[in-house]
Order: sequence, then structure tokens, then C-alpha cells
Amino acid sequence: MTVAAEPRPHATLDAEKIRADFPILHTHARGKPLVYLDNGASTQKPRQVIDTIVRYYESQNANIHRGVYELSQNATEQYEHARRIAQRFLNAAEPAEVIFTRGTTESINLVASSFGRGFLEAGDEVFISALEHHSNIVPWQIACQQSGAELKVIPMNEHGELMLDDFAAMLSSRVKIVAVTHLSNALGTVVPVEQIIAMAHSVGAAVLIDGAQWVAHAKTDVQKLDADFYCFSGHKIFGPTGIGILYGKRKYLDAMPPYQSGGDMIEQVTFRKTTYAQLPNKFEAGTPNIAGAIGLGAALEYVQKVGFDAIASHERALHAHLTKRLSVIPGLKIIGTAKHKASVVSFTVEEPKLNAQDIGVMLDLEGIAIRTGHHCCQPIMDRYGVPGTARASLALYNTKHDVDRLADALAKIVRVSTEKAAARSAGTHEIKFPDPSASTPDEAAAELVETFEMFEDWKDKYAVLIEMGEKLLPMDPAMKTEVTKVHGCQSVVHMFGRKRPGTQDSVDFLADSDADIVRGLIAILEKLFAGQSAHAILAFDIEGFFKKLGLDQHLSMGRRNGLAGMVSRLKAHANQLVTAS
Ligand code: PMP
Repeated sequence: MTVAAEPRPHATLDAEKIRADFPILHTHARGKPLVYLDNGASTQKPRQVIDTIVRYYESQNANIHRGVYELSQNATEQYEHARRIAQRFLNAAEPAEVIFTRGTTESINLVASSFGRGFLEAGDEVFISALEHHSNIVPWQIACQQSGAELKVIPMNEHGELMLDDFAAMLSSRVKIVAVTHLSNALGTVVPVEQIIAMAHSVGAAVLIDGAQWVAHAKTDVQKLDADFYCFSGHKIFGPTGIGILYGKRKYLDAMPPYQSGGDMIEQVTFRKTTYAQLPNKFEAGTPNIAGAIGLGAALEYVQKVGFDAIASHERALHAHLTKRLSVIPGLKIIGTAKHKASVVSFTVEEPKLNAQDIGVMLDLEGIAIRTGHHCCQPIMDRYGVPGTARASLALYNTKHDVDRLADALAKIVRVSTEKAAARSAGTHEIKFPDPSASTPDEAAAELVETFEMFEDWKDKYAVLIEMGEKLLPMDPAMKTEVTKVHGCQSVVHMFGRKRPGTQDSVDFLADSDADIVRGLIAILEKLFAGQSAHAILAFDIEGFFKKLGLDQHLSMGRRNGLAGMVSRLKAHANQLVTAS
């Protein structure tokens, strides 16, 4: 993933120490230790944030900006202190450029409404991107309806990357504002916002960055980015719900009309006329979420203490592990394959076709929390032609163990669903897998070599091969899917693998082909590897074995490639068990 600052090599994170700060991570869900992988929706809260909020309500609560008494003055000071923390967190030029809102949604609504009224008119253009959350689409649709401006979309490619050449071609002086996400909540794409900001500025347009998904994962520097507006939510960065930040450059905030009106945002009110307060109060009408702001301050201090170098490198490794483990699960398809991704992995299960919600429910039974559905990004789902995806999203407290529990549970769900589908279509509930032919692959190999050595010429060897193929256990037609198909074979070959029930890491597999000779080769593979341990399979010298058997020179290049395809599929099944164990 791309991060604002490259991690220093020594930046490490002690996940266990961090987990100790989050009480909820030590609870159980459905009777099993909770695995929380829905951080894109909301993050958990550390003791430091919880204690800050409790302390505030127990001993510091009062309204701000109003009272002359000590409690109110202290509450005001704490609220403004939180603003200064947020200013430093974003590297804003001054605290007045930091507005407290209810969250990202309200921050974007504020800009769409106030910037819309202040700067947009008919003939103007507003750009969003194909990756946006509904909260960065709908407010702009409304602003365009109200102003007569036109809404345009930066398109994306099939990987989920924005197509900036197309954007460049569409840019003109009509564009007044560009609103894009920093990190896609649905696909995990890291958006090159620096480049987009520079491109938009070249035609004089302002830029709003939706940092809802970004801020908890890597450093954010609004001045370095040269963002005109930057938004995020407290609850996605270990802070409370109902509080968020809008950063805006003074030159825009000063020129924009107020969003809401009422107490606290005025300078002077008469029945004839009202003058507005200076920034930031002009945009903070009414009593704000004081405890929320103070709690958010504690959360921002917490992440900064851990350090973004350490957080980014921890999550980068975890994201790579998550992607690797999920990508070898048969039938699972990762949605969103951008080169630069972070935190999020979205996926569907295509074979057998599983509904994303069913996946979520089955994972929940294992104590694993992930998100399923359209993630408030229906246009993205439409682009991929899926009603929804399942999504795992990481945070600094997640571990390799969390990822492994998810991957193991998913592999089991897919396996059981495949078996069930096969049993359903076969009208039986039992699928038979071949038993081991010897106690190790080496022993089985010795027996096979002995058998084939009895025959000198290829014709006899061939007859043995075909006879072996005829005795293959049947593979249910329902198991012959796109996922079980082995590529690289001249003929149609399907292979289905699973962990052998009651064993630590032994591989059960069934395979079939429409070609007799391939069925014979499958029979050899079955004799060698069926029911054997994954480690032994991975260690076995298959090429040396086929040479010894005296078959390889009789197999065409295509057949040899097909054999290699079957062996590599088998090894992938073995690898999956080794990684899982
Ligand atoms: N933008 C993005 C990219 C998001 O992921 C979310 C939350 N899922 C939002 C905006 C809206 O955030 P909130 O609901 O906290 O206002």
C-alpha cells in the first residue's frame, strides 16, 4: 500500500500489548473468542478513550463556551484542547480550520451545502469518483440539483483503480470541486489523492478528500497533500461515534455561508440582522458533542503514540497475509485488485455460489465479525455485477491469528457447501474419497515403480495405466465446477481437495477427466498422495518419480503440462493445509 510516510525499518508494533488496551477484544461472540474484522464499519475503543469519556461525565461535565464557572471553563478548555490535537494530527495550519462535526457524513454534507450555495452555479461541474461511498455521492447530487451544476464521475478500471487519464481529459475550468475518497471502503483501493489534488488545482478547482477509511492506517498531512477539505469520523479511528472532523482551508471556510444556524455560531443577533462568529464557531451551531470531541482527542493521541510507521508496517504485513490466505480458497474471488490496497479485502464466493450475507452469518457462528452487503457503495457493486460482497477490514490490533481464523473458517464453509451441493445433486449424503495406498508417498512410489518395471514396452505400461484409470472412484458431477477445473490440461480435468477428516493435515482428493490416459495419471497421483500428509506431498520429488517410472518420455508436451497442472493444484491444496495448521 502507499502511505504518506515510508515506514522506518525498525518501526514495530506489539499487537498483544495493544490488544490489552481494548477490553472488547477479550470478549466472546457465539461462545468463541471474538475475532473483529469489521474495522471499516467502526473500530473498537481503547481503555484510554473509554476512561476519558467516563472521567468527563463523572467529574467534568458542563456546557462549553458559556459558563463563567470553573467546570464550564475546564470543559471548554478540554474541548478546544481536542481541537488542537486534531489540528496537529492533520497538520492543519491553525485550530480554526478544524471543525467538529457528527462524522464524515456531516462533514461532506456541510461542504456540499455551504460550498454549493457559495460557489456553485449552472454550467459548473462537480467531480466525484466511481469509488465513492453514498455519503460522498448523494450530498453532491443534491448540491448539483440546487445549483444547476453537473455531476461527473472519474471512472475506474476492473481492478478498482481510478482512471486518471480519463479524468485529465475531462478536466476544464468548469470544474469547481472534486470530492474523492482516500481509501475505498468497499475495495481497499488506495487513491492517489496527491495527484488528483494537483490535477484539480491546475484548473482552479477545490478538492475534498473523504478520509473516513484512511486516517486510522497511515499518516495524514493536509498541508503536504494541499487538500482544501479533509473529512473523517471519530468512530473509525478508535474514538466515539457521533463526532468527526472537517478540515477546511481558511480561504474557503471564511467565504462559505454557515451550514446550520443557532446558538454559538453568531457574533451578534438582532431581529433585523445577524452577523456570524469567526471560525471555527461559525460552523458549530448548537451544543456540540463535547464528550465525543474530548474522547476523539484521546483516540488521536492514542494512535499517534503507537505511531503510524509501526501501524502501517504491521497492517501491510497483515493485509498481505489476508490476501494470500483468501486467494487460495477454492471458489473465493477477491473483488478489487488494485496495485495499491490497504486494510480492506472484499470477496465473493462463486463456486458454490454463496450469498455474501450467508457467509457473514456462517462466520458469525464462528465468532468472527465481518461486513457483508453493498457497503453503501451500490455503484461499485453494479460495476462488478454483484449484489454485495463480504469484507474483512483490519486495524492495528488485528493479528495473524485473527486472519487465520477467518481464512480457516471460510475454507471450511466453502468445503462444506461444496460437499453439500454435491450430495444434493447426487441424492446422497456421502462422497467417497480414496484411502491411502501406502503409509507414505515414498512407499507408494516404490510399489508403483515395481509394478511398471514388470513391463518393458510402453504398450503394456499404457494398458496398466488405463486399467488403473478405470478403477478411479467416481467424482460427483456437481463437484465439476469452474473452481475445481484444472487449467493447463488438454482435456477437461477437475480436482477437488479437502483435509481428510480426523487427520492433522492429510489431503483427500478426487479428480476426473474425460481422457482415459489422464484418468490413468490421476490414478497414479491418487496412489501416491491420497490421504497422505500435506508436508509429505509437498516434499515429494514428482518429476524424478515419473522419470523412474519410464512414462514421461511417452507423454506429449500437452499431457505433461496437464500433469504439472494437476500436481500444482494438488500442492495448492496441500499448501493450504500447511498454512492453516
Ligand atoms: N466515507 C467512507 C469511505 C466510509 O467508509 C464511510 C463509513 N462507512 C463514510 C464515508 C461515512 O462515515 P460516517 O457514517 O461515520 O459518517
